[in-house]
Amino acid sequence: MKPNIINEELINQMLRKSAAACNASGIRSILSKARQAKGLDAADTAALSGISSPELLGELFETAKQVKETIYGRRLVLFAPLYISNLCKNECLYCAFRAKNTAVKRRALTQAEIAAEVEALEKQGHKRVLVVAGESYPRQGFQYILDAIETVYATKSGNGEIRRVNVNIAPLTVEEFKQLKAARIGTYQLFQETYNRQTYKNVHLGGQKADYDWRITAIDRAMQAGISDVGIGVLFGLCDWRFELLALMQHIGHLEQKFGIGPHTISVPRLEPATGSDMASHPPKPVSDIDFRKIVAILRLAVPYTGIIMSTRETPKMRQETFALGVSQISAGSRTNPGGYAEGEDVLDEAQFSLGDHRSLDEVIYDVANLGYIPSFCTGCYRLGRTGQDFMDMAKPGLIKEHCDPNALSTFLEYLLDYGSDKTRAAGEALIANALNEMGDTSRQRSQTMLAKVRQGQRDIFC
Ligand code: SAM
Ligand code: SF4
Repeated sequence: MKPNIINEELINQMLRKSAAACNASGIRSILSKARQAKGLDAADTAALSGISSPELLGELFETAKQVKETIYGRRLVLFAPLYISNLCKNECLYCAFRAKNTAVKRRALTQAEIAAEVEALEKQGHKRVLVVAGESYPRQGFQYILDAIETVYATKSGNGEIRRVNVNIAPLTVEEFKQLKAARIGTYQLFQETYNRQTYKNVHLGGQKADYDWRITAIDRAMQAGISDVGIGVLFGLCDWRFELLALMQHIGHLEQKFGIGPHTISVPRLEPATGSDMASHPPKPVSDIDFRKIVAILRLAVPYTGIIMSTRETPKMRQETFALGVSQISAGSRTNPGGYAEGEDVLDEAQFSLGDHRSLDEVIYDVANLGYIPSFCTGCYRLGRTGQDFMDMAKPGLIKEHCDPNALSTFLEYLLDYGSDKTRAAGEALIANALNEMGDTSRQRSQTMLAKVRQGQRDIFC
């Protein structure tokens, strides 16, 4: 029997209705509801997706900015993807790693090569990585992934260490997910790519990934295995973005109903050019820059407590604009070719897709700090077991800020002292002083104690 997670008919019906009913006063009443930061239902989400007047669009963006600022303040969590292998048995037409693509050189890093990558990331100052791989592992099979995670955690250099390993790998069985949890992963991330069955079929021509149902049920299996931090996402550009947005809401509703908790993060990749893929350069349903901003803003209002992740697929300009609208996590200094950190430059004929932001971590941090955002390398919640429901229980009444703000400042100061260039350190210290001034008493006192410890040479201070 087909899993009953996405109801396409209902989505199409809602989109038709919302197109007819979308008027200014209706939109304004949805926006005033959204300001309470309690989320929106699917019908409200559909209505917001139909906004086209510049005036209402401005109001949507303004509301998203307010909600983002109330819940997340000015923190931005930073991470780097770690591509360990580009071997793949699937035929996703948009991806350079697809099996039949002869334009890509295949490579699965050895554990020693993975350790070299991790050292290179640590020397830049990264503390959080996202392990990424195609769906085919060397002869060790799935154990290859488990070994890679162990290698990442075990590789330390000077003050450098990776404190949280998230993974973006193909769907697993419940038993395998249990092993992934035992390997101490942070978030298990998996994008459905498109929730539309027909589009899914058109773009996934072979391999296990061609099975829509195996993929749509993967997050359920991860949760059954006890992984409470999960990330979902859509690859925008394959199908109408409005459809995908409502389907995302249905997926979230399903998880909340079945497990009492939704996803920890949502990723919003847009199709980028990829070696050997026509589709990647000519998306079937391209998403314009303005619609892309709309997607981020609507998600921020619809699921205020779910992190939104923006990768280096996007240009620095688009990344800046979407920080304000709702993005809470960004990758920086990324390479999408296995071995790309230790061995230097992007190697296009080994990479998954081309990047929109080529700047180093320090350049990104300098820029983010100048925009008034506080770069955070915090891994506190995950290490203190504040995940899943426990995290939401603190986040919803606003209590989590008293942890996130001090943790952001202490990990940012670590970065500045250990890795920051002179100009980034100067910009960062000014930002920290400013942030302390603006904090409430509890957070300020906590932050000052933690910052003093970091200045005295202690590391990995979190609350
Ligand atoms: N192979 C696993 C899978 O497909 O789920 C995990 C890793 S895959 C490399 C990670 C993600 O990259 C995919 O889920 C897809 O959304 C994204 N991706 C693939 N091709 C892309 C492209 N041309 N532009 C942007 N993102 C792309
Ligand atoms: Fe393989 Fe993932 Fe690329 Fe599809 S998206 S070809 S499964 S690496």
